[in-house]
Amino acid sequence: MVILYIDMDYFFAACEQLKNPELKGKVVVIGTNKEDNKMKGVVQTANYEARKYGIKSGIPTKDAYKLYKDLVYLEADEPYYEKTSKTIMDMLKGYGFPVEQESIDEAALDLGDVGYEKGIGIGKEIKKRINNETNLPCTVGISFGKTFAKMACESSKPDGFGIVTENEITDFLKTKPVKALPGIGPKTEEKLKILRINTIGDLSDSDPLLLKEKLGIVGIELYNLSNGIDKSKVVEFEEVLSIGRERTLNEETTDVTVIKNMISELSKEVFEESAKKNFWFKDVGIKVRYADFTQATKSKTLNHYSSSEEEIERIGAVLIKELMNKNNKKIRKVGVRISSLMKGNSQKRLIV
Ligand SMILES: [Mg+2]
Repeated sequence: MVILYIDMDYFFAACEQLKNPELKGKVVVIGTNKEDNKMKGVVQTANYEARKYGIKSGIPTKDAYKLYKDLVYLEADEPYYEKTSKTIMDMLKGYGFPVEQESIDEAALDLGDVGYEKGIGIGKEIKKRINNETNLPCTVGISFGKTFAKMACESSKPDGFGIVTENEITDFLKTKPVKALPGIGPKTEEKLKILRINTIGDLSDSDPLLLKEKLGIVGIELYNLSNGIDKSKVVEFEEVLSIGRERTLNEETTDVTVIKNMISELSKEVFEESAKKNFWFKDVGIKVRYADFTQATKSKTLNHYSSSEEEIERIGAVLIKELMNKNNKKIRKVGVRISSLMKGNSQKRLIV
C-alpha cells in the first residue's frame, strides 16, 4: 500500500502573501480575533519569518508582540482560505484515488498497490501542480500507512518531499520524541515521561500491557506505531451531519435575558464540540419548545464556512429574538445546532 500525504505550508499566511505580495519577507501573524480585540486572541498561523522569532500557532497574540513588536497582524479571511482549499481538494480528487481531507489544508490519498516508484511520480506531479496552479508551497509525504505518510510529510517541511518505506521505518522513528506521533498531546507525553519513555524507540521497547493500563486502548495503537505497524486507513467520508445541544430551563419563562444566557451557554458547548472534532460550519439553527409543548425552529445560512464561537452566539441571539417577537408564549427548552460542516484547520485546534 502506498499513501500520499499532502500538507500546505503555513497555509493561511501563504494565502495572505498571495493576496498581498508586499507581505513577503515580513513577520506575519494570522490571529483568531478581529483587529480591535486582537490582544485577547491567539495566533492561528505564523509565517516562516515569524517562526524564526519563536512565534507559532497557539501562543497568545500579546506574546507574539513581545517576541517581535513590528509584526503584521491580520485577521483570518476564512472564505478565501476555504476557496483556495477547495481548488486543491478538487485537483486531488481528480486523480481518482480515495481522498481523505484531514483539515482545510491537508489530505491523504490511498494509491493502493501502485508501488513506490509510481507513487513518487504521482506525488511529485501533485506537488508541482499545486505550486503551478495555486502559487502556494506544500510538502508531500509518502509511506505505507497514513500516519507514517503524515510523519514523513511533517519531517520534510517546508516545501519538501519525504519518503519512508517499510525498510526505513525503524530508523526513521527511533530517535524521534514521542510527541512526533500524531495523537500524542502534552498530557500523554507527560504520562509517558513518568514511565521514562521519551523517544519513539523507548516506546517500542516498552511493555504494551503497561501502556494499555496507563493509556487505555490508545496505548496499544501507539505501541504498534512505534514498532512500525500503521493500521490507519484513508477514509473518504466522515458522516457527521450536525452538532447540537439543547437544555430545559429551570423555569418556563419569557425573559429574554434568561433565554439569551442559555443560548450563549449552549453556543459555547456546540463550539467546543466542533473545535474538538475540527469542524467549520455554515448553518446555525435554534429550536425552542414552548410551555404548551409546541416547538419552533429557525436557522440561518452563512455565505462562508466559519469556526467562530462569537458567530454561533450572535446568530443564535438574533434568531431567538425573531422567534420571541413572533410569539410571546413561555419557553421551556432551548437548543442550538450547527450544520453543513466541513473539516477545518487542525493547527488552530491544538490550542483548545
Ligand atoms: Mg499545513
